[in-house]
Amino acid sequence: MEYLKEEFESSELNRLPEKYRGEIIFSQPLIGVAQGDDPIFFKFKEIVGSEHYTPLEMWLASGQKQLPASNLNIVSIVFPFTDEIRKKSITPIRISKMILPAEIYSVARNFAKDFRNNIMEKTIEFLQNKGYSAISGKLSEAYTLVAKKDFYSTWSENHVAFAAGLGTFGLHEGIITDLGCNVRLASVITNAPLKVTPRKSDEPYANCLYYAKATCRECAKNCPANAITEKGYDKTKCNKYRNKVARDMVPRLKPILKAYSRRINWKYKAQNYPVGCELCQFGVECMDKNPMIRHDLDFD
Ligand code: SF4
Ligand code: SF4
Repeated sequence: MEYLKEEFESSELNRLPEKYRGEIIFSQPLIGVAQGDDPIFFKFKEIVGSEHYTPLEMWLASGQKQLPASNLNIVSIVFPFTDEIRKKSITPIRISKMILPAEIYSVARNFAKDFRNNIMEKTIEFLQNKGYSAISGKLSEAYTLVAKKDFYSTWSENHVAFAAGLGTFGLHEGIITDLGCNVRLASVITNAPLKVTPRKSDEPYANCLYYAKATCRECAKNCPANAITEKGYDKTKCNKYRNKVARDMVPRLKPILKAYSRRINWKYKAQNYPVGCELCQFGVECMDKNPMIRHDLDFD
């Protein structure tokens, strides 16, 4: 998809505001394709949550016509933050006991959503112009955060990227791609016949040094909320800390931040200003690469 390359290079939405000299937010993307009838999508109902959709369920819930699940493909797109933004974000802000993400990262994370939405819309348009149907799970009316006993979404881009062979999970539960874990993700479901990307491994944590080699744990050391331990990632602790970060960063950056709408339990909520946290992703072994590629060559 050449046009994607062009969009990443030239889109004004892939740029930070003037205050940051209009710096590019994302370098060139990685693209993978999952098959609609891959049984792994049923597994995600156990792993993510019972209301997480399979591609066919999302397709139908978004008003598309019934077809065999095997006729669907899911294009997953990895948006890697540029080396410049990564470098500038390694040192967090410290205010008394609070540790906050670097300002440039919070703004990039906030602006990223607009570009990501635009790329999904453009990909849909591109496929429709070629005579196919296409939708985005994330932009669909069927997309919502489900806040019940647990907190999850009806379409997890992380899990879709895993299905599309783009990476595996880390101890911090982010996806570790060949360009690292400090990325954003998007996907489009289509009935266009596309070449499926084979997964290098069905092992969900194959790229993480902690799970593969019992080393590293740098992400856990970076997390001020103690949300990452050798037992894994605690979503509740993480979300609590993210809210704290937002309470501090949003008033400070509001004049330049973009507001987005979101649905929780299928109901629209007041607009919000996402600023992220991701302190667990900066300055760590998997920030900008798959650290297991080097280890695969280690003959140990
Ligand atoms: S920082 Fe280390 S332990 Fe944490 S996810 Fe990355 S590779 Fe795994
Ligand atoms: S996003 Fe922030 S709170 Fe959540 S695990 Fe990473 S560092 Fe911890």
